[in-house]
Amino acid sequence: MTEASSPQGFDYLIVGAGFAGAVLAERLASVGQRVLIVDKRPHIGGNAYDRYDDAGVLIHPYGPHIFHTNSKAVFDYLSQFTQWRPYQHRVLASVDGQLVPMPINLDTVNQLYGLSLNASQLEDYFASVAEPVEQVRTSEDVVVSKVGRDLYNKFFRGYTRKQWGLDPSELDASVTARVPTRTSRDNRYFQDTYQAMPLHGYTRMFEAMLNHPNISVMLNTDYRAIETFIPWRHMIYTGPIDAYFGHRYGRLPYRSLEFEHRTLPQAQFQAVGTVNFPNDYAYTRVSEFKHITGQQHDQTSVVYEYPTAEGDPYYPVPRPENAELYKRYAADAEQLTNVTFVGRLATYRYYNMDQVVAQALATFQRLQEAQAPAGVE
Ligand code: FAD
Ligand code: UDP
Repeated sequence: MTEASSPQGFDYLIVGAGFAGAVLAERLASVGQRVLIVDKRPHIGGNAYDRYDDAGVLIHPYGPHIFHTNSKAVFDYLSQFTQWRPYQHRVLASVDGQLVPMPINLDTVNQLYGLSLNASQLEDYFASVAEPVEQVRTSEDVVVSKVGRDLYNKFFRGYTRKQWGLDPSELDASVTARVPTRTSRDNRYFQDTYQAMPLHGYTRMFEAMLNHPNISVMLNTDYRAIETFIPWRHMIYTGPIDAYFGHRYGRLPYRSLEFEHRTLPQAQFQAVGTVNFPNDYAYTRVSEFKHITGQQHDQTSVVYEYPTAEGDPYYPVPRPENAELYKRYAADAEQLTNVTFVGRLATYRYYNMDQVVAQALATFQRLQEAQAPAGVE
């Protein structure tokens, strides 16, 4: 069923109730469109979903989600649906038996090597160990050309091989470029203008977004089970793009994770929100939610992340051959006038939450413009 919705039908069928789907549902409902949003999971929020565990600690079942953005438009938009708790994320890396700040900064280098450099001496130090490359192409190039091979080996090589199952030399520069290097003592993981967590959690924020008489929510439902008998006019698809097309050109690689959640009988487990383990153990990092959410509780819950090739699709894998394969699917997607692909999985982009919100808001604008009658200003 596609064109001409029946009186009982929906204008939009939205597949996926994560950020991409929820923002579009909210925007479309606000202009009078009737929306059905379906998710095959038993909850809304996509990977940003949070809930209270058995001990009563607010956890992120799909790994720690820290909101940060430089976009006032995105922050203002989400502020309609939640109050915020200011939070600046800090990360330590376990290297050579020490816990040192990550991203690499002045304190990291001084602590690691037992030095007492100042910022300009650190700049000279980086320049002396950096290995210049003609063109920064890979995730190895980005780091080695800035801080040299020893810091690269200690902080990036092992972590990246664990996280992606690939050597940094096999990944686009954009992956490790997410984590900068600093000569200052700024030990925040992010430097964005807006850094805050939804005061009552992500799920409450999603509930507020979807709380509209024009929006119906259907959980535990694969869209393929209903798309042919519930009438709709246009589909917004936010799942993996290759799955939409039945993997007709082969599977796009998405990296997955296994999460091991633990609740501990103590108020605090570690000094900061996340500790990274670039070189030891099968897991990449351990995050303690109470740092991130600000919750007071006499127990604490933590999550260990174990990267895997199989499982729910979490990360697109940025490398040239995957971009080529994605392009073939994207070309087919372009041909479909009644389906729009949005979000991290459907556009195969390693996007943060704020980038997905921005992409969804831009998509809404485009859909609105396409609907406006020709010649009308
Ligand atoms: P998703 O949230 O994946 O939503 C897609 C939804 O579609 C899913 O709920 C899925 O069940 C549903 N779906 C798929 N196929 C079907 C189908 N056939 N039928 C019905 N439903 C279907 N971003 C940050 O900004 N800060 C962070 O700290 C951060 N940490 C992260 C940590 C981890 C471990 C991961 C994996 C991601 C993290 N992100 C973070 C990224 C963030 O999760 C994404 O940017 C965002 O959630 C993507 O939203 P989305 O709507 O595109 O996709
Ligand atoms: N990275 C690393 N060592 C670290 C942190 C990050 O090598 O201590 C690399 C790794 O390849 C990782 C990428 O940088 O996948 C991006 O890190 P980020 O913390 O942004 O990952 P995410 O939170 O998206 O999983």
